[in-house]
Amino acid sequence: CGIVGYIGKKEAYPVILEGLKRLEYRGYDSAGIVLYDGENLKLSKTKGKVLDLENKFAEETSTNGSVGIGHTRWATHGIPNDVNSHPHYSNSGDLVIVHNGIIENYASIKQELLKRGYTFTSDTDTEVLINLIEDVKKNEKVKLGKAVQIALNQVVGAYAIAVFDKNKPNEIVVAKLGSPLAIGVGDGEFFIASDATPFLEYTKKAIYLEDEEMAIVRLKKGIKIRKIKDDSLVDPYIQELQL
Ligand code: GLU
Repeated sequence: CGIVGYIGKKEAYPVILEGLKRLEYRGYDSAGIVLYDGENLKLSKTKGKVLDLENKFAEETSTNGSVGIGHTRWATHGIPNDVNSHPHYSNSGDLVIVHNGIIENYASIKQELLKRGYTFTSDTDTEVLINLIEDVKKNEKVKLGKAVQIALNQVVGAYAIAVFDKNKPNEIVVAKLGSPLAIGVGDGEFFIASDATPFLEYTKKAIYLEDEEMAIVRLKKGIKIRKIKDDSLVDPYIQELQL
């Protein structure tokens, strides 16, 4: 029920972990993080509290990496357990997603993907979405942002998502319909979160995505916002938060 992401120069792990703790009030049953260390994705997720995630991550892997996304889950499709927790990989292992909300037509999309040879490890609607994005990306030979856009136009439901591709480590793609999503604009760094509390200590500049908008958040080139349906560009409206 909460999303936190970071891309910049800092170590992403403490930013994301503390951010997830600040979103705990939203309620959740599981938590997870994926970091990119410049070479590999490092993912930990668990049923339980953010504190359980912290312990698991410390055991499983190192915490280096200046880009990553994290999640607290409120299960809607698939019971709360480690496997159903987010983030979720695509079949290739290159793409990874966190998602709040519900993909209502996930069952029919899943049937199609199963026919095309995709496999699923979880019972979630979210794992269907990330493989749909992967399928579009491969078949249409488009970039990640475009693939996310095409996939979301096939989806019925509600979502806030953050998607990362380890082959494109300088960007995070986010999108929103129904669930909230804010982007914190720092100096050579960006924050992504369900609300501004995870990044207030770093920046007071925030962009709140509107429904049916997506953003490609790029380290050097900045933020590009588009309408998911008609592909029109949206001028980023950066608010100065008075908090
Ligand atoms: N529908 C997704 C799931 O059940 C996301 C739930 C959420 O909003 O945390 O995994």
